[in-house]
Amino acid sequence: MKLGYHASIAKGYLSAVKEAVSIGANTFQFFSRNPRGGSARELDLEDIALYKEFASKHNIETILAHAPYTLNAGSATRATREFAKQCLEQDLKTLASFGGGVQYVFHPGSHTTLTKEESITFVIDILNSVLTNDTSVPVLLEGMSGKGSELCGIFDELTTIISGVELSDKVGVCLDSCHLYSAGYDIVNNLDGVLEDFDKIVGLDKLKAFHLNDSMTAFASKKDRHAKIGEGTIGLDAIIRIITHKKLKHLPFYLETPNEIDGYQREIEILKSVCDRVSPLQ
Ligand code: FE
Ligand code: FE
Ligand code: ZN
Repeated sequence: MKLGYHASIAKGYLSAVKEAVSIGANTFQFFSRNPRGGSARELDLEDIALYKEFASKHNIETILAHAPYTLNAGSATRATREFAKQCLEQDLKTLASFGGGVQYVFHPGSHTTLTKEESITFVIDILNSVLTNDTSVPVLLEGMSGKGSELCGIFDELTTIISGVELSDKVGVCLDSCHLYSAGYDIVNNLDGVLEDFDKIVGLDKLKAFHLNDSMTAFASKKDRHAKIGEGTIGLDAIIRIITHKKLKHLPFYLETPNEIDGYQREIEILKSVCDRVSPLQ
């Protein structure tokens, strides 16, 4: 099982991966740059080389970079779209210096004053201008809860974006258990049905990562409030069914729960021990 959490890279990648291993994780997610402002840290190739060495010794295959929340590729404002494009371009360039083993996820955006269709066209345009044949880092669209005017709270919108991208083989999807449940996909009572839907509309081969969160809000609430595992409306049993599902268990799972490091460690311990009991051969 590939299981990690949202880690800080404030002290660099080597420090982050050491911390991950120390709490029993074998992958982690990090912000590609300041999540609210958008400024990027300086590229430290030596740190990346040391990270790679440590990671390969500890069987860490893939990590996940998360774009800043401020990024809105589907914005009505030209300057906001330009910022999104620059972020994506620069982040993909920076992440390419890992030489593999990194995926990149971003929130598709919010349509605000535009129609959904207009906004989605902007997202597609940006992806088409950013992705080239040389792009080596998989770019994942995150499935969202659909709060406010957020795009991609429904599977169809993920597909519309992906099918509009010329180099669509470079684009995948990251689902989030909290977002799914809040968006109205009943992963608690009908996980198989939700996965069938996703497979029909998007294709399970497009699914490359999974954010693992409980939810503070009710089913189909169209809110986005992450809860600790087992302390929300989704519950531990449903979370376990997700990570052990035969169509999902190969994926990397990332906790984005409201925790400090000791809380993440506890959740990882719980999930690993339950999984060992459910399917010991993994
Ligand atoms: Fe996210
Ligand atoms: Fe998420
Ligand atoms: Zn969220």
